Amino acid sequence: MNTAPTDTESPEEKRSLNFIEQIIEEDLKTGKWEGRVHTRFPPEPNGYLHIGHAKSICLNFGLAEQFGGKCNLRFDDTNPTKEEQEYVDAIKDDIRWLGFDWEDREFYASDYFEQLYDWAVQLIQAGKAYVCDLTGDEIREFRGTLTEPGKESPFRNRPVEENSDLLERMRAGEFANGEKTLRAKIDMASANVNLRDPVIYRILHAHHHRTGDEWCIYPMYDYTHGESDSIEKVTHSICTLEFENHRPLYDWFLENLGIYHPQQIEFSRLNVTYMVTSKRKLLDLVKEGRVSGWDDPRMPTICGLRRRGYTPEAIREFCRAVGVTKFDGVTQIVELENSLREDLNKRALRVMAVLKPLKVVIENYPEDQVEELDAINNPGDESAGKRKVPFSRELYIEQTDFMEDAPKKFFRLSVGREVRLRYAYFVTCTDVVKDDDGNVIELRCTYDPETKGGNAPDGRKVKGTIHWVSSEQAVTAEVRLYDHLFAKEDPNDVEEGRDWRDNLKPNSLEVLTDCKLERNLADAATNTPYQFERTGYFCLDATSSSEKVIFNRAVSLRNTWGKMQKKGG
Ligand code: ATP
Ligand code: MG
Repeated sequence: MNTAPTDTESPEEKRSLNFIEQIIEEDLKTGKWEGRVHTRFPPEPNGYLHIGHAKSICLNFGLAEQFGGKCNLRFDDTNPTKEEQEYVDAIKDDIRWLGFDWEDREFYASDYFEQLYDWAVQLIQAGKAYVCDLTGDEIREFRGTLTEPGKESPFRNRPVEENSDLLERMRAGEFANGEKTLRAKIDMASANVNLRDPVIYRILHAHHHRTGDEWCIYPMYDYTHGESDSIEKVTHSICTLEFENHRPLYDWFLENLGIYHPQQIEFSRLNVTYMVTSKRKLLDLVKEGRVSGWDDPRMPTICGLRRRGYTPEAIREFCRAVGVTKFDGVTQIVELENSLREDLNKRALRVMAVLKPLKVVIENYPEDQVEELDAINNPGDESAGKRKVPFSRELYIEQTDFMEDAPKKFFRLSVGREVRLRYAYFVTCTDVVKDDDGNVIELRCTYDPETKGGNAPDGRKVKGTIHWVSSEQAVTAEVRLYDHLFAKEDPNDVEEGRDWRDNLKPNSLEVLTDCKLERNLADAATNTPYQFERTGYFCLDATSSSEKVIFNRAVSLRNTWGKMQKKGG
């Protein structure tokens, strides 16, 4: 696990710098980049951002903030068949929501297509690139393996003029998809497979979401990425570890073109238990209807987490606490959940909501009386103030707060037992009403008028305090409880003949349709987190309406999965 301890650090204490911060500090000291710090976040607009991207966003934008530098947003849009404007828009939304600003620095690799083409011509002129007629399969075959060198393409020694002419004709649309490629002429025997004459342009007659039909040849990602960083004068080009052995190739391009050369630094990807962070798999989940969309609250996407009730602060704190390392590891999902719990514990307004209601009638309470009782909005934050909750003769409590044949240690309701109704009175259950099948459908109780506010003047104690909602003023709502989307810690761990989809958890969504919420929740706003007392943190769903009020449970009060028990407050 690559998690850093969080509870030993106070904000005042200067924490030790991670290895990237150390590199930057050193560069600032030596004046390597004339004191500049310029990073970028380079998503490919072929899907929605997920928690792994959040880590990269926090890192890149965070470093710029920390060192008084800049961070660009650059879309690496070199693959027209998979990219869409919808994704561009969603990515921008998500980054803004996380709390970061690229100001006027919104760039696109596709803006550099002409420059990239000129550079390809330059490589040809220098005898460092050639047009190749091998098919994709043949190129793969010729490439060799990790233990065997590759074989040179028979087209490798085409004269410069012929290469120039062919590239021009490729651009003009004279050839079909896959008929030819432009390849860098490096070294088919290199120990690094990435240097074995990689393809730098491919023919693709496809409409691009920004350049339209202007191009029918597209630069490869590996050819585009480093040069885009160079064009933008990025100082520290931060990427994940799998690009470590692509670095020599990026270096080769920059050196042979003789252009500005950023420093690439690799760090380990974020992996979280019970989550997949492959865009392809996330897209499959959406396309196959296994979730309700990219923003399904069970998805690890930023928009899913947001809809679920995650706050930007919780996600940023999680990314900070996970830390930056060079070692691949897996972070427990409970770390993410705990970041949310800690954040919401501080800010969420407490309210009362009954998820599985059981009707209670207080027999000695006047029929038409409604009292407005004081309730505290956040016991940890006096400035959150108080609110009024209505109390009346007919209430709802949780079904689980009553037991017919209760053991001694059951401190909630049972016939003959007394409990405190939060902010209200002591009540004693006197009788139950059952349906024809013998299920308890109503409790008959009495209350002690002397115990208003929850204390008995005679000093009598009750062990249990339960929440409740006055029936007439209650808001009826649907409440959605989410579990992990996958049943296995590592969703990619599949046995022979099975598929990662087989690891999907069958009951990851539980829908409760007849929940009773306190009156104040009628004006709940989306993105305002609430603590439903004793049951968890909730927020209004984005699709909620006055006809159908819907709440999502962001997270339960405590972690019921692991040993890490933290007080929910
Ligand atoms: P793809 O396989 O589609 O390229 P990707 O996850 O690399 O998927 P990008 O849009 O290219 O998606 O990623 C944008 C940036 O986010 C890259 O710099 C990438 O390194 C970083 N990133 C992606 N996934 C993670 C992750 N799990 N942890 C940390 N950074 C990530
Ligand atoms: Mg990528």
